[in-house]
Amino acid sequence: MEKVYDYIVVGGGIVGVSTAWQLQLRNPDKSILLLEKEQGFSCHQTGHNSGVIHAGVYYAPGSLKAEFCKAGVAATTNFCAEHDIPVENCGKLLVATSPLEVERMHALYQRCQKNGLDVELIDQEELKVREPNIVGLGAIAVSTTSIVSYRQVTEKMAQVFVEAGGEVALGTEVTGLYESPQCVVVSAQKKDQVVSYDGKFLVVCSGLMADRMTKMMGIETDFQIVPYRGEYYRLPKKYNNIVNHLIYPIPDPDLPFLGVHLTRMIDGSVTVGPNAVQGWKREGYGKINFSLRDVLDMLSFPGFWKVSAKHLKTGLIETKNSWWKAGYLKLVNKYCPQIKVEDLEPYPAGIRAQAVLKDGTLVHDFLFAESKRSLHVCNAPSPAATSAIPIGGYICDKIEQKQEVKRSEVAQVA
Ligand SMILES: Cc1cc2nc3c(=O)[nH]c(=O)nc-3n(C[C@H](O)[C@H](O)[C@H](O)COP(=O)(O)OP(=O)(O)OC[C@H]3O[C@@H](n4cnc5c(N)ncnc54)[C@H](O)[C@@H]3O)c2cc1C
Repeated sequence: MEKVYDYIVVGGGIVGVSTAWQLQLRNPDKSILLLEKEQGFSCHQTGHNSGVIHAGVYYAPGSLKAEFCKAGVAATTNFCAEHDIPVENCGKLLVATSPLEVERMHALYQRCQKNGLDVELIDQEELKVREPNIVGLGAIAVSTTSIVSYRQVTEKMAQVFVEAGGEVALGTEVTGLYESPQCVVVSAQKKDQVVSYDGKFLVVCSGLMADRMTKMMGIETDFQIVPYRGEYYRLPKKYNNIVNHLIYPIPDPDLPFLGVHLTRMIDGSVTVGPNAVQGWKREGYGKINFSLRDVLDMLSFPGFWKVSAKHLKTGLIETKNSWWKAGYLKLVNKYCPQIKVEDLEPYPAGIRAQAVLKDGTLVHDFLFAESKRSLHVCNAPSPAATSAIPIGGYICDKIEQKQEVKRSEVAQVA
């Protein structure tokens, strides 16, 4: 007889691994299988990000994003301390470079206070003292921002999951999902190589493929994943100490992404980026990667046209700067004038899985969908790496609630 797992989790990014690990800790006697299509963990968003443990500056008070991020800072820092994973608490400065940005800085400062964050407003002179290579009219200093390698965090969570009894199947792409009445997960790599796994409950954390997985499961949703590339450069080694903090611009509140920033990485290097340009292949990291299936899916989705029209001007500017290094450089020179075009060395891009609704709304918060025996993470935008431990905990709570309801329904029938 086929083995029936208590839980199957799909996705070896930080959200899936955190969920599998916490499910196993809460349910030591249950059988849990984690499936990932690549040969290792963190091959997509989790392994292509800025490595920042965000403090929660930007998020609407009361949103899941704000709540998870705040809890995530403490949870991630504690996890890293417990497992000897290096974390550097370098803090972050959000630098205003124009009177309009100063105005926005004050609004953002108030939001930080509403979110209960430890922040400080500093003036031009103090900025010069703290960051001699940065120019600006003032800044918000956020002391709780840190840096880490999320690949390392994810690998450690996976190791603890396996040590606690969990099973992992790498190189296993899920190609079919259905409930009959348990969950059946099919992996058909080749015609003659079809494997299927049965589970009593399924959790799907598939990032850039989230919409395809809900469709496979037959769940009706109103969103589609649109990929936005985030392109980085790395500065030469001589600039490893150019900044003491992470340096971010004051974001435009109408735009969904944070703007090109200077990020100290945990390996000692400094990156510049990411920008936000249209991706033409969900998991294609090269500049000219293209997938006919991904593009056709996008072009046939009304939300893509609406969101692209809404952000047309920004989109065109970002695309121009993506191809024209001097334009990209201007975004950094605003606050760090000494960097030159020749200092922008190649660095791998990341691709954001952005859920967009049919009416063109960019989904800013976390989004979930469910069926009787499955839960799908449909949108896990930045700072989901920071927030992965509380998100995993939230998913475990939701599953417990769903299973409790099912048990009481069965008891009532009996
Ligand atoms: C450029 C960039 C910068 C960012 N910077 C930060 C930051 O500094 N701090 C922060 O907190 N967040 C940051 N984020 C956000 C963060 O990285 C993501 O929100 C987070 O990694 C999402 O994790 P995930 O597990 O949901 O997705 P992913 O890491 O994308 O994992 C999904 C996994 O599912 C697997 N999968 C998909 N389909 C299938 C299938 N059919 N079968 C089996 N497996 C499948 C994929 O192979 C993948 O491994 C950034 C994101 C980007 C793109």
